[in-house]
Amino acid sequence: MDDWQKLYKSAKKVQNYRILSPFIEVGGVAAAVLTQNGNIYTGICIDTASSLGMCAERNAIANMLTNGESEIRKVLAITSDGKASSPCGACREFMMQLSPNGGDIEILIDYESRKTVLLKDLTPDWWGADRYKQL
Ligand SMILES: [Zn+2]
Repeated sequence: MDDWQKLYKSAKKVQNYRILSPFIEVGGVAAAVLTQNGNIYTGICIDTASSLGMCAERNAIANMLTNGESEIRKVLAITSDGKASSPCGACREFMMQLSPNGGDIEILIDYESRKTVLLKDLTPDWWGADRYKQL
């Protein structure tokens, strides 16, 4: 089983769309991150009124941070139809700010063909790059 299959299975396990209230629905999108230490953390999207929610990717990353890790190697998010999905702008930005190595995070774009893209290719001319050079 390759890394993407492990991540896919992990995300699929927590993906469970449900409506919690007239304001909140969760679990339509699920994500899994693979860390530098080889651990997998998962998260689901939380959609709310008044923009209080969180994407599945950032939820998975919050889970990773809660468990004491911060270096991501690979990210996968799957939508309700089971297809891999590219992260939104907020998630791209969040991952870039997490670590100087953020640009090298590998993101799955298509599960069947295992097509991937690097985060740095999704964030050209990223505004924060100079700050990392000062470290
Ligand atoms: Zn997002």
